[in-house]
This record gives sequence, structure tokens and C-alpha cells, in this order.
Amino acid sequence: MNDTRADRPLKIAVTIDDFVLWDGVPMPDDTTPTDITRSVARTLNDYGLKGTYGFSHTYRIENEPEQMEAFEAWAEAGHHLGNHTHQHAPLRWMPDAAFRCDFETAEKYIGHLIDAAPSKYFRYPMDMSSGSERRRGEVENYLADRGYRTAPITSWFSDFAFIMPYFRAVTLGDKDVQKQVRDLHVSTAVDMLYQHADTAHTLFGADAPLIWLVHGTTISRDTLAPILEAFLERGVEFVTLDEAMKHPVNFGKPPCNESFTNQLQRFALAAGLPKPELDVERLAEILNLAPIPGLDTMATYEERMFKPLAKRVGAEYDWDWS
Ligand SMILES: [Zn+2]
Repeated sequence: MNDTRADRPLKIAVTIDDFVLWDGVPMPDDTTPTDITRSVARTLNDYGLKGTYGFSHTYRIENEPEQMEAFEAWAEAGHHLGNHTHQHAPLRWMPDAAFRCDFETAEKYIGHLIDAAPSKYFRYPMDMSSGSERRRGEVENYLADRGYRTAPITSWFSDFAFIMPYFRAVTLGDKDVQKQVRDLHVSTAVDMLYQHADTAHTLFGADAPLIWLVHGTTISRDTLAPILEAFLERGVEFVTLDEAMKHPVNFGKPPCNESFTNQLQRFALAAGLPKPELDVERLAEILNLAPIPGLDTMATYEERMFKPLAKRVGAEYDWDWS
């Protein structure tokens, strides 16, 4: 494999997911999903990235109708929306009919905004088109019949891991740790982009345009500009999602895999290559920053988000973080 630190021009399509964040994950008191969405949308526009696709599930609108404002703010700022299901459960946790129903529920809430986009895209929750190739194929046919294509993720940087540490650092009012978390967020975004790029280069024999993900979180509100700046300094060129979707790394279908992986990682696993991923020690360092009893990072995700979600959709909780 190439040296992962070798900076070079890369094409990436930026996508923003779940700017109305998952139910159960806390957010600082003075922050709302709409504020974050507006800020992220504005930063993208500042960098000439009007027309960025956002994939946010719609579940919270059910109990908090005011969250609809975030979706509207995103569209008003000139960005596009895709369908990311209503409840944000992986395909393997739901029977086919329930998964389709969940897709349609999301359409009821934001279908009018999705229709306004130049192309209709769907993104699987957690990019997990798992279950089986047969089930994925049936879902893909269903989506194609409705005019959708699936937009996978081919570069991510485990940015979910920073949400709780940043929340705790803000709650503690510790400015130094807040800066430490932000700096790590930016440097990890850069390192992981080139790790993914190197894997794609090894798989396809040339650099491929990658579909890059960051979530619409409090921390990305505060770091998106420096991340985009760092990408530009290294020669990154931003392309549209439609453009990136012309490459097989994005429109192809790697074998299904039950672990928590993105599409490029699944291509790597299928080819017998190590998947690009955040170094375990660095991940542990991030997860444990700014500790507060009762607000452990992984326990919060498991107990407040994943387990209630599994229960809601009638699935047995099984989650493989590896
Ligand atoms: Zn998501």
C-alpha cells in the first residue's frame, strides 16, 4: 500500500448526515439541530459547496415537530436532501416490509424536499446495506423503481466518536480540552481521508473520487471550516455527488458484511486488504477525553441510542463495533 501520509490531489464529494442527531445522544443546552444545520450549511456555501447532499433520518420529527425546521433550513440554504429512512435502523434489524415502510415514512416528512433535488438519493443507515445480497438486491430494486440511487460512504473518520467527548468538554466548560477534541477531529479527518484514498488506489489502480461523510454535530459545526481548509491545502478538489457516483467505487456493490463498515471498507475486506480505520489507541484516547461519570461515550451510544432503537423496531440488539 502507499504511504498514507502522501498528500495529493483527490476528488471528494462532501455529504452531511443526521444533522438532526440520533434520539438519545445529548447536545449542549444552548444548541439546537436547526442552529447546527444552518451553520454547517453556511460553511459549505462559504467554500462553494452549494448543493451538498444531506442524509438525515426523520424520527425525531415525530415527537419534536420543530425539528422539521432543520430540514427546511438545509434546503433553504441551497443544499439537497436524500432519504436516510425514518428510524435509522440497519436493514438487517428489520423485515423487508418494515424497512420499506420506514423509507416511506421518511418520504412523508421530507419527500417534498427530496423531490426538489436534481437526483434522488438514498443512504442506508450507518451505510449498512447488510442482511444479505438477496435482501439488498430487493431493496435496491424497490429504490430504483422509485427513482432513487444509493449513495454509499467511501470515506469516513469515525466522527461519531467525538460527539460525546466534545459534549462533555463543553459541559465541563474546559476550553483546553474543547480545543484538543477539535484539533483531533480535524487531524483525524485528514489522516482518514488519505487512508481511504490509499485503499481505493490499491483496489482500483488509481485515485477514485470518494464520497466523504461528516455528521451534522456540534463539533462539526465548530471544525468544518478548518477541515475543508486542510483538505484544500492538500490539493483536494470538491466534486458533486452525481460526479462521484460515476465511479464503480461508489456505484458498485461489494459483498455484504455484518460489521460496522462503510462501502470502501467492505471492498477492502472482500479483496483481502486491511480496511482503512482509525488506530485503536487513538480511538481510545478520543473516546475517553473529558470524562464525566455516567456519560461514557460507548455506553451512551449503546444504552441510550442503539438498544432503544433495536427495541423499537423489534430487533434483537446485536452490534459489532469491529
Ligand atoms: Zn445516519
